[in-house]
Amino acid sequence: MAQAFASPGKYIQGYDELSRIKKHISHLGSSFFVLASPKRLADLQETIRTSFKDTDTSIVFEPFSGECSKPETERLRELVKAQKCDVIVGLGGGKVMDTAKAVAYYEKLPVVIVPTVASSDAPTSAMVIYYHEDGTFQEVMLTRRNPNVVLVDTGIIANAPTRLLVAGMGDALATFFEARTCVENHRRNYAGGTFTLASFALAKACYEALLDDGPGAILAVQNQVVTKALDNIIEANTLLSGIGSECNGVAGAHSVYFGFRTLPGSHEFFHGEWVAFGTIVLLVLENRPQEEIDEVVRFCLSVGLPTTLSDLGQENISRDDLLRVAQAASAPKESIHNEPFPVTAEDVLAAIVVADAIGRSYQGQI
Ligand SMILES: [Zn+2]
Repeated sequence: MAQAFASPGKYIQGYDELSRIKKHISHLGSSFFVLASPKRLADLQETIRTSFKDTDTSIVFEPFSGECSKPETERLRELVKAQKCDVIVGLGGGKVMDTAKAVAYYEKLPVVIVPTVASSDAPTSAMVIYYHEDGTFQEVMLTRRNPNVVLVDTGIIANAPTRLLVAGMGDALATFFEARTCVENHRRNYAGGTFTLASFALAKACYEALLDDGPGAILAVQNQVVTKALDNIIEANTLLSGIGSECNGVAGAHSVYFGFRTLPGSHEFFHGEWVAFGTIVLLVLENRPQEEIDEVVRFCLSVGLPTTLSDLGQENISRDDLLRVAQAASAPKESIHNEPFPVTAEDVLAAIVVADAIGRSYQGQI
């Protein structure tokens, strides 16, 4: 299998950078279709208009319906065609970004992503996660087409809720460990090949940035200011984790998330919060050295990521329900099978129980 590396065409990150959006994207076209939630449009469309003032660029602002669904994609495609727009801009969280990527994919247009949170790998990836209109998961679409430009305004991220930045660190925490599993076993990545030295180096840099700057970044975002530590964590959560997982592959931490997502009430916790706990489960499953588990658990505690089932609202989960979670996490198509050894539901259940016990023991020590 060939090696493959994919990334956005350009990644720009800086304070107040949205006010300079014209400089970053005007080369892509002359008629921009900007998709964002009604609240984001109210807050930010003037900044975009001002950046493009005194140009003959046309900008259409369209409120997002709230769900990354196929009907919403079709609705937006019709508008894009009717207005003759030639560039799609997605301004917001994961669902806005994914919908913008989907519309651009079907209309064969360039896409610009402006994330307003640093909580997932959505900004840089070629992946779209589709939901039914009732909010239930439908499917993952691989567009094989990464965004042309990702523009991150750190001032906007600094004003997002702290918990979202922390959840982004949870998702980013898994990146190196899942990458290592895929790299060691020569598994296929989402770019259509195997890892490169570049992609694995980014995954390592992601984990190092979290350890170095996680707690410091939280202090910045709690006070709505941008520091070097926050810059580094935004880059880790967005660029390093995004490319690191897309171009190395994912593994058991994400399967654990998918397993727990079958439980009612699991939606009260963010993707990255489940994935952080899933990372500890992965390390137990792989029987990694105690020092490594120690470092990961201590990191989670230092930034407020979950380390126990109780932290995730599952203190009373029955063994039967846990087995169902483990069965879902080890379903045949799950990435947990990127391991070099067979993984059964009983193996996953055991790893969850022990990961929880480790987390409880650490919390008891504090
Ligand atoms: Zn993830």
